[in-house]
Amino acid sequence: MKDYKFIAGAICPACGEKDSIVLKNDDSQIRCIACNFYQNKDKSTIETIKIIND
Ligand SMILES: [Zn+2]
Repeated sequence: MKDYKFIAGAICPACGEKDSIVLKNDDSQIRCIACNFYQNKDKSTIETIKIIND
């Protein structure tokens, strides 16, 4: 997973797992390490990923 970085506090929209979302280093794609969900990154992707800041 060296080409990816974690998004702290992000929740996977597919499986609901927290801290499992990684962002590709070229910012083109996000994916979930828990359920292998992935999505090309665009404006709606960012709205989909919920970030918890507590
Ligand atoms: Zn997931």
